[in-house]
Amino acid sequence: MSMLKGIGASAGVAVAELVWLEKPDLSVTRREGLDPAAEKARYDSAAAQALSELDALYERACETDEATAQVFDIHRMMLDDPDFCEGVAEALEQGVNAEWAIWQTAEGLADMFRAMEGDDYMQARAADVQDVSQRLIRILKGIRDGDTRFDRPVIVAAADLLPSQTVRLDKEKVVGFVTKYGSATSHSAILARTLGIPCIVGMGEDFDQLGEGGTAAIDGTTGQVVLNPNEEELAEFQARQRAYRADQSALEGYKEREAVTSTGHKVLVVANIGGLDDIDAVTAHGGDGVGLFRSEFIYLNSADFPTEEEQFLIYKEVLERLAPRPVVVRTLDLGSDKQAPYFGIEGEENPAMGYRAIRICLKEPHIFRTQMRALLRASVYGNLNVMFPMITQLGQARKIKELLAEIQQELEAEGIPFSRAVQYGIMIETPAAAVMSDVLAREVDFFSIGTNDLTQYTMAADRMNARISDLFDPADPAVLRLMKLTAQNAHAAGIWVGICGESAANTALTNFYMDIGIDELSVSPASIPAVKRAVIESNPESPGVGG
Ligand code: PEP
Ligand code: MG
Repeated sequence: MSMLKGIGASAGVAVAELVWLEKPDLSVTRREGLDPAAEKARYDSAAAQALSELDALYERACETDEATAQVFDIHRMMLDDPDFCEGVAEALEQGVNAEWAIWQTAEGLADMFRAMEGDDYMQARAADVQDVSQRLIRILKGIRDGDTRFDRPVIVAAADLLPSQTVRLDKEKVVGFVTKYGSATSHSAILARTLGIPCIVGMGEDFDQLGEGGTAAIDGTTGQVVLNPNEEELAEFQARQRAYRADQSALEGYKEREAVTSTGHKVLVVANIGGLDDIDAVTAHGGDGVGLFRSEFIYLNSADFPTEEEQFLIYKEVLERLAPRPVVVRTLDLGSDKQAPYFGIEGEENPAMGYRAIRICLKEPHIFRTQMRALLRASVYGNLNVMFPMITQLGQARKIKELLAEIQQELEAEGIPFSRAVQYGIMIETPAAAVMSDVLAREVDFFSIGTNDLTQYTMAADRMNARISDLFDPADPAVLRLMKLTAQNAHAAGIWVGICGESAANTALTNFYMDIGIDELSVSPASIPAVKRAVIESNPESPGVGG
């Protein structure tokens, strides 16, 4: 098998069995001479479970996507379809296993639907009946819907991996993943870097060649994938794995060092995290704290709006476990590729520019209030800072301050203690915010530059779209100029400025960051030692880039 290629989105090398996340093994073999009553009971129980799964999917889809809801409704009806039910019952009478009875009946009906040429509606029913039969067979085989637990190390393959799926991956057993779509700054790739496992995204047509399955060898730096490697290829990947591990251990010595440049500028090298599971990785890699806690993952992991108490307990634990290190929690940045069905955000033409993040919080202040109350209550347990995402206007910063003052008064009136030392900052991740950073700097305590979105909006290049990944370049002079402007305006106003987008870890840019006086770099925990080394070895006198 030849070398396949994608975008290397998280460094490291892995060799393991390839499993498809959304393609469990649903092959069926015919067994005979079974007790029809027992098989009928198995079928009935699988049908009941399928119905309740479809009910839940239908309800959830109703809130966001009518068309998808309709599909689930058709699937529910199919479970009751007389032709389908009779076909299964007849097969069961012959003493075959329930899986076979379902498969045979569904294939027969699908063939019949497909033969109805010119009738698009009936042709589409072929796919529906197969879908329903697969659901039933999956249940009979004991495979849970979206099951992501494994009993052995695996590399997960998926056409696309939503952040909500990635957060549920079995962190013990998944040693890497590969996807057909997506790019290095899609949130799934970011999560892979946080987990410190190699991942390759945007494989495009090469992904389809993985269909035969087997063992995969992947290199998350080069983006290379070899399916069923021969001895020579296996040796090559194992050598790369050893080299990667050797490089990692050479970095060990940097973990506990302070990141100070040759000119004496001290930079905090902190971590981007998505939840409590990532905290050990922060301390294990010598992080000076957390520069970005993507709090929306609390919402993505929840079936409904997380309550004030639920959130409070999480923030408290993060702060306590990391104290006295500073922790920057970013308020809810939901929307775009990060969707929770219970928010009921309807399909949008341009979700990245749509109803998301602070826009939701300012339109629905009760959501903001719940989160801020939880954060302020937790603030007495450690060193908390809070920042707000997707700011585009001065008015938003002012509105946030008004709401904050109200919430603080509310807590005071209730006699609930909170820290007055909390710093409040905003993310600079839109060109509007960067251009207005002189004005915005007067309103806040710090800036954190989100290079992922700043690049996406500046270059007009969707961060999720692998086909234009060449245009999505955080090192483009246009992006660098906005960063430099932001840093200048921050320092002129006497506030600090960090970078928390993925390019904070790009050590080819560390010199530039030091030239413009960046005070904090927030990166995936595994990147911390390499970034500390790059700061220590940087040469800030070098001419600035992109000015
Ligand atoms: C960014 O946009 O750079 C950022 C850090 O936020 P997110 O990647 O979560 O959008
Ligand atoms: Mg962003």
